[in-house]
Amino acid sequence: MDEAEAAMRQEIIDACRAMDRRGINQGTSGNIGVRWGHGLLVTPSGLAYDAMVPEDIIFLDMNGTPAGPHKPSSEWRFHRDILRDRRDIGAVVHAHPPFCTAIAITGADIPAVHYMIAATGGPTVRCAPYATFGTEALSKNALRALEGRLCCLLANHGSIACGPSLAKALWLATELETLARQYFLSRQFGQPVILSDDEIARVSEKFKNYGPKL
Ligand code: 13P
Ligand code: ZN
Repeated sequence: MDEAEAAMRQEIIDACRAMDRRGINQGTSGNIGVRWGHGLLVTPSGLAYDAMVPEDIIFLDMNGTPAGPHKPSSEWRFHRDILRDRRDIGAVVHAHPPFCTAIAITGADIPAVHYMIAATGGPTVRCAPYATFGTEALSKNALRALEGRLCCLLANHGSIACGPSLAKALWLATELETLARQYFLSRQFGQPVILSDDEIARVSEKFKNYGPKL
């Protein structure tokens, strides 16, 4: 493993711990995949973030053949499939954040309740239909929900946030949970007002010159 790869493995572990601190993931839930060489680096399955060291991260080629001391994340298929089919994406962050998951339990999409939804790639965050964790069916559903988007919900499961870099995908995972929390809270008071597709398109234009350069 060269220096650049060791640094990326550590960045993945740091991102897992950041999700834990921010309350968007805990224990062994969630996982991260990052495009690397002719494949991807992915977190191991069922290993607590606290104990992870760079050698625990698994390299997978695009056929899904793993190299490493552990089993790759049970969700390696959607990490691999997203990175294979979407050249605009370099990192995938999967989590079980409480508010995203609460909405995903109802099977609903998140509508444009706040202009920040533009950062997720469009005027809705779609909810992919339920399929058992770790299956090809879940990967297919996720890919469809991600068409033209960087985020989606997974019914009765959690969320996926993607980005060109791991830093951007982690930022978006946190923004998505904030959006879900705002939507959930507004529903306690009444019927949310939904912004138009035109307005979200305008905000998307403005975002080209706004926000953290991650
Ligand atoms: P892994 O520990 O296998 O990555 O699984 C966690 C998870 O969130 C499955 O959907
Ligand atoms: Zn999961």
